[in-house]
Amino acid sequence: MSKTFEKLQPLLDKSMAFQTARSLFEWDDQTTAPFEAAEYTAKVVGIISDEYMKSMINDDVRKLLKKLQDDKEQEELTDTEKAIVKELSKAYEQLESIPPEEYRAFSELTSVSSRKWSKAKKDNCFEDFAPYLKKIIDFKKKFAGYRVKGDKKPYEVLLGDYEECFMIKELDAFFDLVKAEIVPLLKEVAKKAETIDKSYNYLNYDIEKQKEFSKYLAGYVGFDFNRGVIAESAHPFTLQLHNHDVRITNRFIENNLESAMFSIIHESGHAMYEMNIDDAITQTLVGGGASMGMHESQSRFFENIIGRSNEFWAPIYDKLVNTYPENLSNITLDHFIKGINKAAPNLIRTEADELSYCIHVIIRYEIEKMIFNDEVTVDELPKVWNQKYQEYMGITPSTDTEGILQDTHWSWGEFGYFPSYAIGTAVASQIFACMQEKMPIDDYLKVGNLTPIREYLRDNIHKFGAVRNTNEILKQVCGEEFKADYYVKYLKEKYKKLYDL
Ligand code: ZN
Repeated sequence: MSKTFEKLQPLLDKSMAFQTARSLFEWDDQTTAPFEAAEYTAKVVGIISDEYMKSMINDDVRKLLKKLQDDKEQEELTDTEKAIVKELSKAYEQLESIPPEEYRAFSELTSVSSRKWSKAKKDNCFEDFAPYLKKIIDFKKKFAGYRVKGDKKPYEVLLGDYEECFMIKELDAFFDLVKAEIVPLLKEVAKKAETIDKSYNYLNYDIEKQKEFSKYLAGYVGFDFNRGVIAESAHPFTLQLHNHDVRITNRFIENNLESAMFSIIHESGHAMYEMNIDDAITQTLVGGGASMGMHESQSRFFENIIGRSNEFWAPIYDKLVNTYPENLSNITLDHFIKGINKAAPNLIRTEADELSYCIHVIIRYEIEKMIFNDEVTVDELPKVWNQKYQEYMGITPSTDTEGILQDTHWSWGEFGYFPSYAIGTAVASQIFACMQEKMPIDDYLKVGNLTPIREYLRDNIHKFGAVRNTNEILKQVCGEEFKADYYVKYLKEKYKKLYDL
């Protein structure tokens, strides 16, 4: 270890500790804290956040970082240390570029605006949320402007915060291909899917039984209960303190069988990624997943590519039927598989099937691009949103609640985030394609042996954390960088087989 890096280490450990404390409060807030706690606990969280800021942005860190960025110093660093310095440079630049008073004003705005969004969504009143959205967008344009370099566009600065390998050029090419191939396929599939009776999914499913079966599924795919816990929250999510303490949540809906089952598989995918990160890098700046896109690739790999296959359910479907014999005894495995893969144009992203999901993301991406290119005003957004749904899905939302107001991301100032969901889905298909050449995945699934699949992902992707970026991982695993063709091929083959097209 270089002398300079040795000096930096304890400083980074300190900021990691503040960050961990903050995460723990976030977990507590969303799972067990009583309703009235928020206002008072916010004071504590504010102080911890402030200390975190100070532990990152100060003269000591600045001097050491500058020294470590020097070519000669770089030569002395290991690959992991280099990656940590790179992450620190990014975080430093991001935090330092914004004047503290603007950062505070923005934090205050988003803590109010997310509640305003929630109410506006409930009341179906975009006009109530619009003034806040305008202010958030103004801030984000300003913040992106501080960091824009060379011929990069402001929106690309925001995209880069979530996934550095995909800028507008790459995303445009990816989404153009999806639009050309998947939009027509969805229309074709939807016609055939109409005949699939999925009413069994919406019968009454005892919540206690759902909890038990979800826990079983988490363990089945490989969630390690010695390193992780499961709780309940309004929206399922994953949060890690380090690789030996990874927490996931689930939610249960009485008249929807699929919701909790696929949420738990999804979050378990995120959790296993974090649990498998190497002990040597956990609790460092590269001790989390490589990017949002890479993280989504792992959750979606388990949820969709594996979790919605016949082979996955074959060994455990009887157990599901025996858990709810009153609802499922007449539903064959084949019927169930068609049910969990039923595809049709729809309005709500979080409830979308695998085939239409990417189209929801494309619509948001195109609108965000228009916003940051100053091609649309906030007041025009509902109209633009509805036009795009009509164009790509052939349906128009009848309210803003099921249109422009459905997602929470913008109310937090998260612009540039949505593409990660689509990138993740496509990356998962590419990894699946090269894994199939290396191991008989279907045979493993048919006998309920997921260990070789999990070990492969651990040894080739998970353990490296954020030392490698998405394209570096793909190059290592598949021998080439990201290629959207795998995704299109995967969807076409899957749906053609399922629906006899
Ligand atoms: Zn996810």
